[in-house]
Amino acid sequence: MPLGYRCYNNKARGRAINYDTGLLNKEKTVQILRTSSIFEGLSEEALSTIATFSHEETYEPGGIIFTEGDIAKKLYILKEGEVALDANLSARPGSVKRGTIEVILPGEAFAWSAILRSRLTMSAHAISTAKTIAVDAEALQTLLAQDSTTYAVVMRRVINIVYSRLAHTRTTLAHFLSVASHDLKTPLAAVQSYLQVILGGFVGELNEKQTEMLSRSCVRIAEFIEMIDNILDISRFEVGEIEMKELSLPDVVKDSVEMLRPLAQQKKLNVTLDLPQKVPKVRGSTTRLKQVITNLVGNAIKFTPSSGEISVKLKEDDGFVRVEVADVGIGISNEDLPRIFDDFYRGVAGDTAAKGAGLGLSISKKIIEVHGGRIWAESPCPETGKGSKFSFTVPKCDYKK
Ligand code: ADP
Repeated sequence: MPLGYRCYNNKARGRAINYDTGLLNKEKTVQILRTSSIFEGLSEEALSTIATFSHEETYEPGGIIFTEGDIAKKLYILKEGEVALDANLSARPGSVKRGTIEVILPGEAFAWSAILRSRLTMSAHAISTAKTIAVDAEALQTLLAQDSTTYAVVMRRVINIVYSRLAHTRTTLAHFLSVASHDLKTPLAAVQSYLQVILGGFVGELNEKQTEMLSRSCVRIAEFIEMIDNILDISRFEVGEIEMKELSLPDVVKDSVEMLRPLAQQKKLNVTLDLPQKVPKVRGSTTRLKQVITNLVGNAIKFTPSSGEISVKLKEDDGFVRVEVADVGIGISNEDLPRIFDDFYRGVAGDTAAKGAGLGLSISKKIIEVHGGRIWAESPCPETGKGSKFSFTVPKCDYKK
């Protein structure tokens, strides 16, 4: 074990970083290990063994503790100060930015990849002077391999840490998306209304070319605002914001289909509606379920060549009510089928046939899952052998899981 005090200057990273390693009083170390998020609940004997291969390391503000991609040689428990866990984030191919994913506070463990003999998935740096207990990974792995009780406790803790970190990251991302998209939308909405004023001829006459260019700008801005709305939606579902009440699904289906009928007529598509006389009520959000149906019917219109057929059916299905939207359009390839519900995924057809951000189906899936239902796609449609069929279920009001 390292004894005494060592000092390193790491000028290569553009900042002088010092850290010292030393032996803490064993009793004190055991006390810190006992109350840490990862070793809490271990036997005194196990804690005492871990203390024999642990030492103290101190990092000055800005000091790099480890770097993403390194093999994890130590597990750290923060004693004092604050540590940031950073990761490379990529919003689009070719653009990678470093961002802080999590701030570690005293008592918390980090670099738990050390237990799994894997590479570190994040970097860590000290925000303020950080005093840590560094536990030697190899010695810890040997102990865990020999002592199954300790292994079970530590693994349960690791799962809890990973789970809460994931939950925290999702909420942070959702919050970030909601703030960023709201801030983007406000100035765009202002530009949109100025354009509408100009297009309306309220500030002087426009020639044909100007009208055409401004109209196109208006359409592009509307598309952009719709995309921001979709991103805002994703962030809302991540934090589970949705209001539900008792409702009649046939009414929602009818309204959504009638809204899109003029669009279908433009393409000479025939949309048939098959709604049973009596359908049990479901619990849900009218606006959100309308959003799902208009997305499915809208896609069916988009991906079916003119003069085709689209059928919308509603059925009872055990404790659920099921909606089916089938078309005789271009269908979905086997390669695309498993991925069409992913965020931002657009199939080959989506790229060539029509505009879209690849968010409609992923938002629909989130909406249906929040309702406690399921959504899936089949291509070709099993009944007709053509195009595709999208189905989703929503639990009946009195449905008990
Ligand atoms: P977008 O339509 O904006 O691309 P969606 O999430 O609604 O995004 O759809 C994702 C992809 O699924 C589409 O790009 C398309 O490839 C495929 N898709 C969806 N509905 C249909 C359909 N009815 N027929 C064929 N392909 C479809």
